[in-house]
Amino acid sequence: MRTRRQEEGRATWTRRGLLAAAGTTLAGSALGAGRALANDATQQPGDRKPPLPLAEFEPKSMLHVAETRVARSRFPVIDVHTHVSPRRSSRRPAVPPADIVRTMDAVNVRTMVNLTGGFGEDLATTIANFDRAFPRRFVSMTEPAWARAGEKGYAAWQAEEIGKAKAAGAAGLKILKTLGLYLRDGGPTGRLVRVDDARFDPTLEACGRLRLPVAIHVGDPEAFFLPTDRFNERYEELSAHPDWSFHGKDFPAFQEILDARDRVFAKHPKTTFIALHVGHWAENLEAVGRMLDTYPNVHVELGARIGELGRQPRTSARFFDKYQDRILFGTDAIPLGKETPQQVFGEDLYRIYYRFLETEDEYFDYAPAPVPPQGRWQIYGIGLREEILRKVYYENAERVLGMKLVAA
Ligand SMILES: [Zn+2]
Repeated sequence: MRTRRQEEGRATWTRRGLLAAAGTTLAGSALGAGRALANDATQQPGDRKPPLPLAEFEPKSMLHVAETRVARSRFPVIDVHTHVSPRRSSRRPAVPPADIVRTMDAVNVRTMVNLTGGFGEDLATTIANFDRAFPRRFVSMTEPAWARAGEKGYAAWQAEEIGKAKAAGAAGLKILKTLGLYLRDGGPTGRLVRVDDARFDPTLEACGRLRLPVAIHVGDPEAFFLPTDRFNERYEELSAHPDWSFHGKDFPAFQEILDARDRVFAKHPKTTFIALHVGHWAENLEAVGRMLDTYPNVHVELGARIGELGRQPRTSARFFDKYQDRILFGTDAIPLGKETPQQVFGEDLYRIYYRFLETEDEYFDYAPAPVPPQGRWQIYGIGLREEILRKVYYENAERVLGMKLVAA
């Protein structure tokens, strides 16, 4: 579906329109071949420079506006969305937890909730290396054994496992977008398992009974469900990672996934959910607000979405005001890799979040990267007042986790 603005952009071929459209027609870049960004219109014919590929365009803002460096958050932070433990089967922590704690101390992060703690032996190892070695600094969640979801008796077995995970020290359950977008019945060509598939009901009920919150991430940015074409605002990101696109094939539509997720929220009213990435729809805070109004058992989290929140600062500020008891701080931080700069754990990452939440600075980068990685735009701070900051930074998380983590 094209918006009117996009149609207008096609009709009036302004410099701005040209720039926006250039994303689809890159020359000599890693992203593709074709026509490139045109040179400045003031150039004389005959002294043409070679075309500049969009991927190499790194404009520096000429705005002379306030730049506030927020080295440490005003209040201690619980980051409820991190992935700090190593993935399955590798026993050694990818980055030693002691190194992570040093960075946490530098930026005033009290606790990191490690969502992907695995299950069974992996979970035990994670909890020993992180949660027990650094009490109250790391809190780990367990995950379903997706590979066993096709086995007979899985539903009851998985629900049992949740009790064992809690006994082992897990603080909640993480549901990845594996559910709805990857997990298939009967092998790789089988049917995609729906988000509201009944076989997970006993597990989600067990989480409610055991007071384990469920951190859920289904779906992805709305643009990932649309064609990767000249009108896609995340064209560069999707071109660099074509496997992130959920357009076509047998993927459900974006709205279908959200509807199935909402049926899950409705089916398990006694289970507390944290809908990650601003309820999976940071581009549409009105819809997220409606979801929160409908399901009092749901909270949202900010991870990797300040690029969305910060480009609609007035709408975001109203959202934080209205839902101040339902929003948890999170970054989706991972300690290794460069693929997704908006998630790379480090002091820079936290300082951007703090600047967004605490200041009214204008037009700054939402990720520590030379080019904005999720889309070519900048963000604006929303300058939350102290009462809301305290809730978002740690009070809401303590309540949802049922843990006192920050010293009074
Ligand atoms: Zn994540």
